[in-house]
Amino acid sequence: MEDRGIRIKCLFVATVLAAMFVASVPAVRSGETVHTEYARPDVNPTSHTPGTCTPTDNYNLIGPEWKSFPVKYQVDASRAPSDVRSGATAEIVAGFEAWEGITGIPNFFERVSSSSNRVRFSAIDGPGRVLAQVSLSWTGNTITKFTMTFDRAENWEIFTDDSCPTPDGRVGYDIREVAAHEAGHVVGLHHSTQCESCGNRALTMYPYIFAQGETYKRSPESGDRLGMQTLYA
Ligand SMILES: [Zn+2]
Repeated sequence: MEDRGIRIKCLFVATVLAAMFVASVPAVRSGETVHTEYARPDVNPTSHTPGTCTPTDNYNLIGPEWKSFPVKYQVDASRAPSDVRSGATAEIVAGFEAWEGITGIPNFFERVSSSSNRVRFSAIDGPGRVLAQVSLSWTGNTITKFTMTFDRAENWEIFTDDSCPTPDGRVGYDIREVAAHEAGHVVGLHHSTQCESCGNRALTMYPYIFAQGETYKRSPESGDRLGMQTLYA
């Protein structure tokens, strides 16, 4: 693989502006935000050492939230790369389930056979750069719909651990970790914004992936959990 370092980042200028506007005019405006996750080749190309695996309490909110539960969604992995197609759905569902049990809501998500909330694999921009996207729609302060798209051209992989730091020599982007990060956007979380050396790079909502094979952001940590508890107290 040409790009061993990977970086995930959401472009959220439009999101911030829209979220600020919605926050200032609650229950009036509708909005939509698209979080685009980028892979970049310039971070930690040969080592998988993340620096520190200790998370912080940092979190940020997009603004709107879900008001009725469970949030139902469907997964269509029929266009996933053939080598992960049979296992992709279970990994994606596990990414959503990582956010269960953090609030008092007994069942936040439910995967169903048909829903307007969709997870899919589709062509975005070829290998590298954009990995995945989440589109959120809302009315007033209520999220009404989401679409999550994985770029089918990426080298997706299924790993079996959740270890930090990441073992060296692993290739492929962990479907479950990216699904967990994207599901964090779906619940209403923005990226964490604290400094890289402070340890929040272990947070699920940290905006960068440091290397292929990384899995340690599968599990929401302190800041991720605090953010969700703030939204759904
Ligand atoms: Zn993101």
